[in-house]
Amino acid sequence: AAKGQGRNRSCFFTPSMQLAAQTRVRLGKDLRQAMACGQFRLHYQPILALHDGRIRGAEALLRWQHPERGWISPAEFIPLAEDSGLIVELGSWVFAEVCRQLQQWRQLQPQLHISVNVSPIQFFADNANLLQWPAQLAAHGLPGDSVVLEITERLLLDNRDQVSTQLHALRQCGIRVSLDDFGTGYSSLSYLKKFAIDYLKIDQSFVRHLETDGSDRALCEAIIAMAHRLDMRVVAEGIELAAHHDWLREAGCDFGQGFLFARALPAAEFEALLRQRRTF
Ligand code: C2E
Ligand code: MG
Ligand code: MG
Ligand code: MG
Repeated sequence: AAKGQGRNRSCFFTPSMQLAAQTRVRLGKDLRQAMACGQFRLHYQPILALHDGRIRGAEALLRWQHPERGWISPAEFIPLAEDSGLIVELGSWVFAEVCRQLQQWRQLQPQLHISVNVSPIQFFADNANLLQWPAQLAAHGLPGDSVVLEITERLLLDNRDQVSTQLHALRQCGIRVSLDDFGTGYSSLSYLKKFAIDYLKIDQSFVRHLETDGSDRALCEAIIAMAHRLDMRVVAEGIELAAHHDWLREAGCDFGQGFLFARALPAAEFEALLRQRRTF
């Protein structure tokens, strides 16, 4: 029996892993339904210019209200939506929703832009749905530069020509590109030359301990200097403390977002900040 147990312990699927796998399968099925039942919402986290504390835009972040499990984090369901390919449909829904909000909110603040996270799968979908975005913007009377595409290093990893062609086409229409979670992926710096990128987004893991960690400060300084030399702007995410805010502003970081200012807010709450012309 003891031997049997020993063998069981090295078995790949433990009961808890099996449960996790079952949950994933279940959630994957629920996702498709969620689309049809309108269980997704977009929340908006303000992005501000650090030099004057004014809101310049927002990052659109997906939220899923599951009928039994309540709010489920995108970190949990985005990978599932990618596995099933549903991310393409979901991504189209996100973009349509963003266009609708931009049309309203640019009446309150004409230069406002919204950042949209896109998955690599959206670049490789057969119908190349990203390439329809410029026409959709135009149909809403929105200029290309009202939207920022947030991509990750994962997309640039294998330097596929298909990606650079699509990014180029989108940028031709004024859409800007932001490299999210910068410094946490496995890519090389050579893509900064190959792909035209407008913003580097410093990952929150480099921001979180800025007040105590000298190497994080050195990394942030280096990222800011490099970005500016290459004519890119820098956004810091995960600003939670006034000390982070102060340091980043002094260091010349252009934009910031984080819980110190606001979490991702329901549309009505973000709109209230715009109406108040709130500064931070
Ligand atoms: P991300 O694009 O890097 O988004 C930033 C995440 O950091 C968000 O988590 C945001 O709520 C969180 N955050 C912002 N400020 C702070 C802070 O001061 N402290 C801390 N601890 N966290 C902060 P969220 O909303 O859970 O999103 C997680 C990830 O899910 C996103 O990371 C993005 O990769 C993905 N995601 C969200 N919405 C979409 C979407 O519409 N499409 C795709 N493809 N991915 C999405
Ligand atoms: Mg993002
Ligand atoms: Mg990010
Ligand atoms: Mg992140």
